[in-house]
Amino acid sequence: MTQEKTDIVIVGASYIGLSCAVAIKTALPHISLRIMEAAPNGAWENDTRSYAIARNGVCMFRQLDIWHAIEPEAQMINDMIVSDSQINDVMRPIFLTFEKSADAHEPFAYMVPNKTMIKALRTKAHELNIIINDGITATALKSEPSRIALTLSDNSIITAKLCIAADGVRSTLRAMMQIKTMKLDYGQSGIVVEVAHERAHNGRAVEHFLPNGPFAILPLKGNRSSLVWTEPTHNATLLINGDPLLFQIELERRFGHQLGELSVLNKPKSFPLGLTLAREFVKPRFALIGDAAHGIHPISGQGLNLGLRDSAAIAQTIVEAARLGLDIGQIHVLERYQQWRRFDTIKTALITDSLNRLFSNDNRALRLMRDVGLGLVDKIPPFKNFFMKQATGLEKSSPNLLRGEAI
Ligand SMILES: Cc1cc2nc3c(=O)[nH]c(=O)nc-3n(C[C@H](O)[C@H](O)[C@H](O)COP(=O)(O)OP(=O)(O)OC[C@H]3O[C@@H](n4cnc5c(N)ncnc54)[C@H](O)[C@@H]3O)c2cc1C
Repeated sequence: MTQEKTDIVIVGASYIGLSCAVAIKTALPHISLRIMEAAPNGAWENDTRSYAIARNGVCMFRQLDIWHAIEPEAQMINDMIVSDSQINDVMRPIFLTFEKSADAHEPFAYMVPNKTMIKALRTKAHELNIIINDGITATALKSEPSRIALTLSDNSIITAKLCIAADGVRSTLRAMMQIKTMKLDYGQSGIVVEVAHERAHNGRAVEHFLPNGPFAILPLKGNRSSLVWTEPTHNATLLINGDPLLFQIELERRFGHQLGELSVLNKPKSFPLGLTLAREFVKPRFALIGDAAHGIHPISGQGLNLGLRDSAAIAQTIVEAARLGLDIGQIHVLERYQQWRRFDTIKTALITDSLNRLFSNDNRALRLMRDVGLGLVDKIPPFKNFFMKQATGLEKSSPNLLRGEAI
């Protein structure tokens, strides 16, 4: 049985694990770092989804010197409109609009194809000599006073001062460390599909709050949009496995005809939606980041953005501790990260959960109240600014990378 030693081991080479590795290694080139990824080499190239990345995530990617590789494929979101109606309503009154202010140099978010993001992160990781082991899972974990030992699926053992779990919402490492979670199943699934349309979207994102859940139209490069369509899980299963013609009809009923003729570009996929919050983010020599720490509803496209904030915060915590000569796996070092991220995580989870509860229903009284509420938010600048701040993710307490500064 082979045994290897490294300073940091990260489990999960998706957006959050990779961005964390790149952030740490950029600031501390001499640290040894390995990433273990369960999926086989190249599996990420099959991901056809695109995500909304908030302005502070873009600042982080610029600072990590990868934005230049992403930008050619990224579509600016210049404005966003919100409507609240029934599926068959002929008119969809707009209750809320967000647009880029005249003095802002950048839009509040970009739509980025996931594989472009992973390719840029992997290329940078490679340049920084970060080793990524694809097709390897961690099967056991043992925390000892001065190190943590991971048994891997190839029967080798790797020991490190710190293990960072970025292994997604069903994190097995979280379970191995016996960290409990708070879980809520929404009974909904998000259907994700890409469409082409005749007319240009002009960088406009649209969120239709429909009785079964939000239907988001997010602009991509060219005359294309990415849809995140929430339905009760049994409807979603019927829609994606049924007749493609029926899917197209149901899609058009929700999308409307404002952008002309629609064509579906890829096979729709659906993802079960829930809320998962880890009760602790750290243990001695162990930290959770990204969806492994928190899985939230995609209603406001914040999941990955929340994870990028974890990634920047843990990287800064570790880098600053290492520069002071501290042991980076010590619990008092890791607790700084937990304190930093706790409030933002709970706040974002509560906002997305409340929005989903408020809008995913057909109660007439509630609909009237929420429409008055949305109208008020639209007319009162401080309220609107609060929501804009949420969308851009720019806050004073943000880690350096998210403010576009080096660690
Ligand atoms: C329908 C939908 C739409 C969304 N849209 C948006 C959006 O527009 N904007 C946004 O910010 N967020 C969005 N999200 C949320 C986003 O998908 C997640 O927040 C994001 O994927 C979290 O990234 P992650 O790196 O933490 O985890 P993941 O992307 O889940 O990656 C986990 C990685 O760990 C690997 N892994 C798992 N177990 C092991 C193991 N034991 N050993 C080794 N490797 C392992 C997996 O193979 C995977 O590569 C959306 C989510 C859904 C469901």
